[in-house]
Amino acid sequence: MPFEISRLDYDYNALEPYIDAQTMEIHYTKHHQGYTDKLNTAIQKMVDDPKIETDIDTKTIEQILENISSEVAIIRNNAGGFYNHNLFWNVMSPDGGGEPTGELASAIEKSFKGFEQFKTIFSEAAKTRFGSGWAWLVKKSDGTLAVTSTPNQDNPLMDAVPADEQGTPILCLDVWEHAYYLKYQNKRPDYIENWWNIVDWEEVSKKYE
Ligand code: MN
Repeated sequence: MPFEISRLDYDYNALEPYIDAQTMEIHYTKHHQGYTDKLNTAIQKMVDDPKIETDIDTKTIEQILENISSEVAIIRNNAGGFYNHNLFWNVMSPDGGGEPTGELASAIEKSFKGFEQFKTIFSEAAKTRFGSGWAWLVKKSDGTLAVTSTPNQDNPLMDAVPADEQGTPILCLDVWEHAYYLKYQNKRPDYIENWWNIVDWEEVSKKYE
């Protein structure tokens, strides 16, 4: 089964003024669709190649990512691009912003000594990611939370990933220039600060629980 990008639950202009409609449309229909098409094409080529023995077409995206060290770069880049953007669209909402509640709020309190402290750490990870990449909030195997960042389309699910923390991503921020350049140009910190207004904490809570 080819991988398909998740449907957006909101219109391209729904996240304005924080993310503009043109950026959303290009990001979703060109960049995310592009990673996904390239992933599907690369998988099909492997399956069709009699010299390659693979069961990659029977795996979930998570299974592929968790064993990414055994895959070639085109799979690594595009499997990451496919998964990362699905999560990104999902954790944003025009009704977002504010602060988390419930179990997630307690976990943030426990792991970061407070929500403001967490925001500062996450924003710093996003600002200081050199070049293209992502910032992440992950749930680790012991249930605690950690912030990390990755280059390119890597993510903290990947084995052998150059992230200092691994775990299950529950929140992510795309800091590739294609995610903000039309509206913010070189001002990545402004994009990051505005983005907090559209974080869907209900959705992040669901992923945490
Ligand atoms: Mn992107």
